[in-house]
Amino acid sequence: MNDHDSERMKGLLESLGYNEAPVRDDADLILFNTCTIRGSADDRFLGNLGEAKRIKRENPDVVVAVGGCWAQSQKELVFTEFPFVDIAFGPGELSRLGELIARERIEAVGAFSFDGAFSGTLPAKRERPFHAWVQISVGCNSVCSYCIVPSVRGRERSRHPEEILREIQDLAAQGVREVTLLGQNVNSYGRDIPLGERLTFAELLRAVGSVPGIWRVRYTSPHPKDMREDVIAAMAETPALCEHVHLPAQSGSSRVLKRMRRTYTRERYMELLMRIREGIPNVSITTDLIVGFPGETDEDFQDTLSLVRDAEYDGAYTFVYSPRPGTEAGESMDDDISPALKSERIQALVDTVHQVSRARATRFIGETHEVLVEGPSRTDPTKLRGRLRQNIAANFTGDAAPGSLVMVEISGASSTTLAGTQLGVPVTA
Ligand code: SAH
Ligand code: SF4
Repeated sequence: MNDHDSERMKGLLESLGYNEAPVRDDADLILFNTCTIRGSADDRFLGNLGEAKRIKRENPDVVVAVGGCWAQSQKELVFTEFPFVDIAFGPGELSRLGELIARERIEAVGAFSFDGAFSGTLPAKRERPFHAWVQISVGCNSVCSYCIVPSVRGRERSRHPEEILREIQDLAAQGVREVTLLGQNVNSYGRDIPLGERLTFAELLRAVGSVPGIWRVRYTSPHPKDMREDVIAAMAETPALCEHVHLPAQSGSSRVLKRMRRTYTRERYMELLMRIREGIPNVSITTDLIVGFPGETDEDFQDTLSLVRDAEYDGAYTFVYSPRPGTEAGESMDDDISPALKSERIQALVDTVHQVSRARATRFIGETHEVLVEGPSRTDPTKLRGRLRQNIAANFTGDAAPGSLVMVEISGASSTTLAGTQLGVPVTA
C-alpha cells in the first residue's frame, strides 16, 4: 500500500509540473512517504529526515514534506519536534498534496483526516509498465493487538465497484496486463457499500478477471477470518485469477494468536489452507509471521516452525515483534522477549522458511509454466526475468519482449527463484 501511495504521489507531482531530481541536494521539494509498521521503519526515516534538515539549512527555499503513516502517528507534533518540516499529511490526505504545497508558501500545513479522496483516484507513475496496484479499500476494522495500521489508516472504506472496474479498463487500454487489488483487509471488501450497489469480494474478483486485456489478477492481503468458499470458487473458475494466496498467519500457536486477537486458531487456519489447496490446483501459498510477541514461549515458537512445515509455504515475510505506540500489545503487554532471543528465533524461522520453500520449489522442475516477462534478469543480463502465475520469480533463457506471456520449461530451483528456458514464441505478444 505504501508503494502504491508513492506511485500516486509521484504521479500527482508530475501532473503539477515536478520531475524527479537526480540527487537529493538538487531538489526543490523533498517529499517522504513514511511507513510506521515497525520501529525500524521509523528509525530509518528519522535518519533520512536528518539529512533533509541539513539540506534545508544550506538552502532554506527547499520545501520539506512528510506524508504517510508515520506523519499520521505524529500529527501536529511533527512541526514542534522538527521545525524545518513545511508540510505533513496522513495517508488519508494524499489527494490534497497539491493544495498543501500551494498553501505552504504562507504557513506550515498539516492534514490528518481520514475522509479525503481515495489515493487510488490520483494519477500514478507506475514502476512496472505492465503491472498496476489497484486500491479497492483503505483502512482496517480489525484490532490485531500488535498493529498500528487501524490507528494511522482509519476505519475501512471500500471504493465503489464501478470506479474500480473503470480504472482497470483504463489500465488495460494503457497496456497493463496484470493488476494487484490492494486493501489492508482486502477480502472484507464491500461491506460498507449500500446493498444493491455492492459486489462481494468474490464477485469483484470475477468482474476484474473478465476485463478484456487483463491477463492476471492478484490481491493482497486477505485476512483468514474473511476468506470464504466463494472466493476460492472464483479463483478456481476464473482463468485470469492467479493461483497464489498470501495468507498471513502471524503465529503457529493458538495461544499467541488469541493474544494477537487474530480471531482464528491454528487448526482453523490449517483447515482453511487445506480447502484452498483442494479448491485451487497447484496454488502457491505465502504468509506473514511474527516472532517474539510478548509472552511467546519456546513451545509457542516451535509451533510457528511446525506451522511453516505443515503449511508448506512457498515463501514468508518474517518479522521481529516491535511494540507500537497506541496498540493494545504495545501499551499493555510487556515486551519481554530479549533482543538476543528474538534474533535467535528469527534466524531459525528464516532457515526453516528457506528449507520448506526450496523443497516446494523443486515441484516445478521438469514442468512448463506460463511466465509474464518483466525484462532482463537483474543478476545476469543475458537472461530474462518474469513471474509464474504462482508469483514465483523465474530467470530464463529466451528472447520474448517485456509484457509478453511465454511458456518456460523449468530446470532448476532455489528457495526464491526458478531457472529455465523459453519454449517457442510468446503465447501473446
Ligand atoms: N493488512 C495486512 C498487512 C499488515 S502489515 C495484513 O493484515 O496482513 C504487514 C505485516 O507486518 C503484518 O502481516 C505483520 O506480520 C507485520 N506486523 C504488523 N505489525 C507488526 C509489529 N508491531 N511488529 C512486527 N511485525 C508487525
Ligand atoms: Fe493490522 Fe490486523 Fe488490520 Fe492487518 S488485519 S492491518 S495486521 S490490524
